[in-house]
Amino acid sequence: MTNLNIERLRSETPGCQNVLHFNNAGAGLMPEPVLNSITNHLRLEAQIGGYEAHHAADLAYRDTYSALEELLGAKPGEIALAENATRAWDQVFYGMKFSAGDEVITAQASYASNYIAMLQRAKNSGVVIRVAPSDAAGQVDVEELSRLISSKTKLICLTHVPTNGGLVNPAAEVGTIAKNHGIPFLLDACQSVGQVPVHVDEIGCDFLSGTGRKYLRGPRGTGFLYVRASSIDLIEPPFLDLHAAVWTKMNEYEMRPDSSRFENWEGYVAGKIGLGTAVRYLLDLGPAATFERIGALAATLRQELSSLPGISVHDIGEVKGGIVTFSHASIEASQIKSHLDAHKVNTNLAHPEWARLDAERRSLPTMIRASVHYYNTDEEILKFCNFVRQAVQG
Ligand SMILES: *Cc1c(COP(=O)(O)O)cnc(C)c1O
Repeated sequence: MTNLNIERLRSETPGCQNVLHFNNAGAGLMPEPVLNSITNHLRLEAQIGGYEAHHAADLAYRDTYSALEELLGAKPGEIALAENATRAWDQVFYGMKFSAGDEVITAQASYASNYIAMLQRAKNSGVVIRVAPSDAAGQVDVEELSRLISSKTKLICLTHVPTNGGLVNPAAEVGTIAKNHGIPFLLDACQSVGQVPVHVDEIGCDFLSGTGRKYLRGPRGTGFLYVRASSIDLIEPPFLDLHAAVWTKMNEYEMRPDSSRFENWEGYVAGKIGLGTAVRYLLDLGPAATFERIGALAATLRQELSSLPGISVHDIGEVKGGIVTFSHASIEASQIKSHLDAHKVNTNLAHPEWARLDAERRSLPTMIRASVHYYNTDEEILKFCNFVRQAVQG
């Protein structure tokens, strides 16, 4: 199916010996090289001092930016590191200058944290939220979205891959529309980077947010923001500090010219170095090859689950990725998950309030979210389905 050496990839993933891990949309298992780069740096901090360790590891630290530029097709100065994807996204969204009546267009797959922020700005700044409907396949209806655009539209916010299912939204088609109308485009790529090949010029986004711990298999507490150089002045960082800006005169400051104006001084240096290692690890494997395998594994899992009595698989979309969501006709998802937990099978629950627009439209219950990665196997899928069968047969 692919040229990936799954046996080697699993032997480099210590967690594979302990758990059957289908919670990659929560946090992927870190591979050994990522773990080593983090622990080595922490040890160095303890041995020679935190600032001194940062200085000594400056090349590795800066390589995290280069690796992300390479992965996303960004240019130097367009990447900012953050503590998670939400804060990265917030930098853009809360940095937009909105007046009452300005409109933001989003879609059904919207992530809760993003939509909560939109509701807050609707309340405090009079922003109007317009939600593009989904098409018959379940992805954002690009034509309907373009019909919502008017002179009042100030921003398009799309979730590329939602938290609650296999959908991969047609981000590049939305990017083309945004570009044709000259409207800034903010892409939540939190579940897609590391899973789906993502290139900022092919998609045509102005801003993109992502996280380290999910499909990139980096450490927790890391995230990143891409800001297109030509779009940087569309937003003003809501917070500035002595890293994001320079106090140039007693009553004046100057923001940094590049994306570092969206960062702050103190951060998780070891984690940021580990994030760079994780991105390099993916670049070595090739994001096209890994996505092909993720998609194939997930398709098998959906097919196997569908044949179990009482189980419904809920994933939608023309293109589907590695997140598989399902429920049982009468047994609570939490009860099935408890059975899986007891057998060291990792999944998560997908609650309606994490993606309420979609959940209410489709009347989704709380579902079990089983998210596969390229290092998972067909054998694990069969084991998994057996555990689900046990759980529903009692
Ligand atoms: C997890 C997730 C986020 C938030 O990422 P954090 O790193 O936890 O802030 C944003 N969007 C989607 C679609 C997600 O699944």
